[in-house]
Formats: sequence, structure tokens, C-alpha cells
Amino acid sequence: GLPTRLRLSGVVASEHALTSYTFGLKGTLDAVLSAELDSPGGCGAARALLPFELKTGRRTPSNSNDHQAQLLVYTLLLSEAHGAHVPAGLLLYSQMANTDGRGVSAVHADPAMLESLIIHRNRVAAGCAPQALQHGRMPPVLRDARACGGCFERAHCALAHAALEGGDAASFGVEALFLEAAGHLSPLQLSYGRHWLELVDIERRAAERRSTLKFTRPAGELEEEGVALTGLRLAGVEQLSAAQLSTEGGHVRSWAHTFTRAPPSPDSPASPPRPSPHLGASKLSAGDLVAVSAMAAPRGAARPRWLLASGIISEVGADEVVVLLEAPLPPPRHGARLRLDKEEVLAGFGTCRSNLLLLLSPAAKREEPLRLLQLVVDLAPPRFRPPDEGLSPLSAEAAASLQTLNADQRAAVTRVLCARDYALILGMPGTGKTTVIAHTVRALASAGQTVLLSAYTHSALDNVLLKLDEMGVPLLRLGEQLSRIHPRLHKHTVEALLESAHEPEQLSALLRDRRVVATTSLSLSHALLFERFFDVCIVDEAGQITEPVCLGPMRLAERFVLVGDHFQLPPLVTEPTAGERGMATSLFSRLCQAHPAAVCRLRMQYRMAADIMAISS
Ligand code: SF4
Repeated sequence: GLPTRLRLSGVVASEHALTSYTFGLKGTLDAVLSAELDSPGGCGAARALLPFELKTGRRTPSNSNDHQAQLLVYTLLLSEAHGAHVPAGLLLYSQMANTDGRGVSAVHADPAMLESLIIHRNRVAAGCAPQALQHGRMPPVLRDARACGGCFERAHCALAHAALEGGDAASFGVEALFLEAAGHLSPLQLSYGRHWLELVDIERRAAERRSTLKFTRPAGELEEEGVALTGLRLAGVEQLSAAQLSTEGGHVRSWAHTFTRAPPSPDSPASPPRPSPHLGASKLSAGDLVAVSAMAAPRGAARPRWLLASGIISEVGADEVVVLLEAPLPPPRHGARLRLDKEEVLAGFGTCRSNLLLLLSPAAKREEPLRLLQLVVDLAPPRFRPPDEGLSPLSAEAAASLQTLNADQRAAVTRVLCARDYALILGMPGTGKTTVIAHTVRALASAGQTVLLSAYTHSALDNVLLKLDEMGVPLLRLGEQLSRIHPRLHKHTVEALLESAHEPEQLSALLRDRRVVATTSLSLSHALLFERFFDVCIVDEAGQITEPVCLGPMRLAERFVLVGDHFQLPPLVTEPTAGERGMATSLFSRLCQAHPAAVCRLRMQYRMAADIMAISS
């Protein structure tokens, strides 16, 4: 029977994210409450956990069913994760506080309703599956002037319709919107858009397929491949100091959880396949994103499994693995075993897609809004000023420092200063690319230019920044994870500037004054970068990154400089089809071949013997 009364006794968790591998469901509960429930016959009270959902509005006939279904699912998630019966959930409508029930309504966890809900969900998922298997995965455009006129995605939607679906103003249905977003694109530019959006999609779908393996393949197989660690227990939890915590992807992960192998369970089958006790033998390493999940004790055929949290590995030792999480894990259920699965980072594909669509859009902040498109797609020849014009704005100090460089390096810096569109700097390892970049940045800053400095890896970026720091160039290092930034550069981060600013205006001024801003090529979501547009963008390691990644920093500046060596490792592509269709060729390589006159070669070798250099080239 249903409980008749309940007394709330506390809030157990807030913003509680739950995922059930068993049912294929996930949700973030506003709060989990503990309560005492009176049983219907008056024979005592029972304690229970209840999901709580806050709705900022009123209950209406049109939203009531949706909200009840949401709470029903939450009762299922909560009961699986905590191994307890969850009899009901609570809804609170903020604008009904003055009604009789004060806006609170209880949703009974009716098993028949839940079963019917999941059957419906499965039918919808099965209906969507055929479309999900096709390229693009886009439903038809609405062709509705009102809905599309107020849609934030209208420009990208029109561009994708034109490039991927070969659509035009008539098929889009809202002619003015289509022409504004995509009317300027030539057939060559549309075909470029389609080509690259398809390649990104091939890579993304492959990553998604790998990501679903952890739902469908036996744990032992994944452990053997080195992408999972199973049969673990939690050995300790420690809260980190501000300097140690991770803020990657906007998540503040300050709780270090240490996992070790759990002893064999008495409930295990007679001769279970035991994984190697050596945790360091797996392919998991520091910096990997992992899902932490729990599996119930092995009773019967089905072993429910549920996600507890996602985090970043900070250490892998022979006997233990340390993972940083946003909050402490809940106490383990009796007999449950923990497991870590490597997660695919899918966010980068969204950035690549967005970079491509922004390249196809006119850029209002640019002197010539379509110039980048013409340079990258039409391969328009880059323009240069005469050397004396390029060098004239340099300070005496910056000009003198160029004399410390060799002839090739000096020529490269001069070429960048003269570039009206772009310059390309090609140099093998040991030819002083980092030195050239540092001198170029200092020269540009001394000439009053703003610079966005970018590289694919934190280490390459910080190597240049350490030189700039020694040169005394004021800079701003953006990065979501302080632990990945070189300690000597922490003083140049937003966090450090925050400590020296007392007012928001003071902080804004400090941030604005930094002419040189540095970030990795995929970390472009910082709010500061939405506001700023730079004179020059310099991308290091440009021979090793795919074209859609390279476009990210390039679209934030009037001119660009690509630095690299395309004779070394090409961009990493996982799908052979995408590689064969051109994804393994960097933009740096393509531009070097199209316009050799724009390439500055660094030939003087400071690190390798001539014979070794001959082999590596
Ligand atoms: S612009 Fe595109 S995404 Fe937006 S409402 Fe219209 S059809 Fe939908």
C-alpha cells in the first residue's frame, strides 16, 4: 500500500547525477531527500530516500505528465544506485507556494507505470535508430519563419542545410535567413564544408561506437584490452588544495579517490576469471577521462550496474589508481565492486564542427569578412608588405633582439611582421622554432599588436610561454586545469589575476591589457575569447593537428602564422576512411604545397647530428 504521511529529515545530495547501465537511463536529480514514511496500517515508520525536483513555474495539464514521468525515472535510478526501495518522488512548483498543497505533489513509484514508460522509451529509440545510423543525423528543417527567426542555431542550421544537404533558399523555407547565412558561399566553398563536416562525422561516430562498447562487451575483454579496470574497491578519499584540483571542462574536481583491487567476493562463482592484480599494466594513464561505476554483488544471472561519477585519472601505480572527482563517492553498497572505464572525449568533435561552420560564416570582426574562407578554401595567395614597412613599428629593443637570431630565424620573424594574411614557418626538431615563436610574439607585442598563441599540447604551449616569461612579455595563460600548466606560469593565469584585482572592473582591465593570450587549440570556450579578436594568431604544432582543429584559433584573429613540420607525424586520425579522404593531411601541409613562397624554412640545426637529421627527414 501507499504510505500516508512523510516527514522529511534532511538533504542527502543535490545536483545528483545518476546513470543506469542496466536500463539505459540517466538524469540529474535536483536533490535527494531522506524521509520517514508512515505505513498505511499505522504499524510504524520506515526510512526512505526520495528524489526531489524543483520546477520554476506552475503545474499545468500540458506539463504534468512529463514531470511525473521524469520523477518516475528518478525513483528507478535512485533505487538502483542506492540498493533501496524508493516509494515516491516529490515535485515542487515554485509559483504554487500559496496553494493548499503549497505546490508540492508526490509521485508514486508505480511499477506498472514505470514498465509502460520504459516500453514506450524503447519504441521511440527503435524508431530513431535508422536515422541515427545515417550521416548527418539531421531531422528535416521546419520551414517556419517564426520558429526559425527566433532560433539561436539558425545560421548554422542554414549552413549545414546548404553544405550537407545541398539545400537552397527554397528548400530551407525562410529565404531571407538562408541568404543571410549561406547566400555568399560558392559551390567550391559548399563542397569544402560538406567534405569536412562528413570527415568530422566519420571520426565522431567511430568514437561514439567505441564509447558504447563499455555497455555491450564483457568487462574481462575490456580489461584485457587495457581500457577498463574492474573488481576494484575504494581505499581512500582526500580533498585537494586549490592548487592541486582539476577544473577541466568547467568541472571542479577536488576529491582524490584511491582505488585498489578488491579481495575476491565470497559470492563469486567457483573459478571466476581474475584480472591481473597489477593496475599499472592497463593502458589507462594520468589525464584520461574515466567513468566510475558500481556492479552489485553477483547474485543470480543479472548484475545491475550503475554509474557513480566521471573523473580524471591523476595517477596510475602498480597497486592503486587515483581519480579526481567533483564530490566524494557515496558509501559503497554491500558486496558491490567498482570499475573504471576509459571514456571517449566527444566534446572535441562539437568544437571541430563549430569551427567549420564559423569558417563558412561571414566574420563581422574581420576587416574583410570572407578573407579567411578565401585563403583556406579558395587557396587565395597570401599578401605581404615590403620588409621595411613590416619592421618599422618595432621598438629599438625588439629590433636589437632580432640580431641574436640566425639568418633563417630573423627572416621568419620578418616575414611574419610583413604578412597581411598569413605566414608559414617550417622547421625540423632542433631548428629553434620555439625561439622564433617567442621572438615573433615579442616583436608583434612591441609593435602594438595583440596575439593569440596556441598549440595542441600544454607542453608545447608552455615551452614558448616560459621563454616569453623570461623576456618579460606580459601574457595571459588560459587553461581549465591548473595542474597541466607549468608552475612557473601560474602567475599568468586568470586565477592569479583574480587575487590581485579587488573589483570586477579592475579584473576586466587587467585581462584586457594582456596583449598576448595563450591557450591550447581545443580550449577555446573561455568567456574571454568570446569578446576578443586578435591581430595575429600563432599556431604551433600545426603539422600535427587536423584542419578543423587548426581553424579554431585561426578564426579568432585577422592574420595567422602556422608553425610546424609536416614531414614529422601527421594529424592523428582513427578511421582509415577519414584519413584516406584527407583528414590526415594538415592545413599547414596543404598551404605549404599551395604557396611555397609563403614558407620560411629554418635550416640551422642546433640539436641533431646531420646523419640523424637525414634519417628523420
Ligand atoms: S533554424 Fe533550423 S534548427 Fe532552428 S528552428 Fe529552424 S529548422 Fe529548427
